[in-house]
Amino acid sequence: MYVTTIDQKDQKVRLSEIDTDPPKGLSKEDVEARFASLSDELFTLQDLLWGARTHSVLIVLQGMDTAGKDGVIKHVAGCLNPRGINVVSFGVPTKEELEHDFLWRVHRHTPRKGEFALFNRSHYEDVLVVRVNELAPESIWKERFGHIRDFEELLCEHDTIVLKFFLHISKGEQERRLLDREKDPSTAWKLNVNDWRTREKWNDFQDAYEDVLRRCSTLRAPWHIVPANSKWFRNIAVLTTIVETLRPYRKIWQRKLDDMGQKGTAELAEYRKQLRSKPV
Ligand code: AMP
Ligand code: MG
Repeated sequence: MYVTTIDQKDQKVRLSEIDTDPPKGLSKEDVEARFASLSDELFTLQDLLWGARTHSVLIVLQGMDTAGKDGVIKHVAGCLNPRGINVVSFGVPTKEELEHDFLWRVHRHTPRKGEFALFNRSHYEDVLVVRVNELAPESIWKERFGHIRDFEELLCEHDTIVLKFFLHISKGEQERRLLDREKDPSTAWKLNVNDWRTREKWNDFQDAYEDVLRRCSTLRAPWHIVPANSKWFRNIAVLTTIVETLRPYRKIWQRKLDDMGQKGTAELAEYRKQLRSKPV
């Protein structure tokens, strides 16, 4: 309801036509109660997933610098039991990583059954920054769209629930956030001249993102475009999307836990029966 979901390949996407601001008339106070109840629901769903171990959840976060990838991780992870989550940030590849195919470093961090993985950046950097900064020739990065679709399809085939979020901020909002970092001594450590260099290529990145959204959206691994100029709205939008995606699995997970409970109870009863029948 809060996000634009692209769940088909080759669907037309114009980022400039998609809102970066929250819907008019909605305030932080309006969604506070909803945030709390969704947070509880997500915690419960995670517990069922953990016990049932039939699926895993992969959450991919992408967006321009300052779009709020870290903020979303903080909020979503804050709703979850740390026991079952793995947060991974993907930066400039190491020498070892560059000596492998581009999916190698990502695949080893995909979630095991029962668990969540939260990716701060991902394999998509290999068709974004690599493309815009010409770190690889076009013939190489173009092939990657197909590899990415196949890779995500493989994950889905193995019962990974894939959610991909593009945190959509405006260029003006990014400037405000970068300047705010400079003004506030407590956030100055985040200053990075490369953020300003990357910003010069804003339009190239938006074009590259549009291609990603067009070419790597499928029914099972859709992209969700989140208006991210406002932090509270961004958080509720992501949380709502995660809960709405996982909710339909609740019955399956609950049934699996019920079966496990019955099996365990029966085994225990049998064990006690044998104990009683043993000669003393
Ligand atoms: P940050 O997310 O601010 O810690 O920055 C990580 C940096 O690593 C960003 O500038 C990304 O563009 C860069 N990065 C991530 N993946 C790749 C990649 N595959 N190739 C080149 N640079 C990358
Ligand atoms: Mg950065």
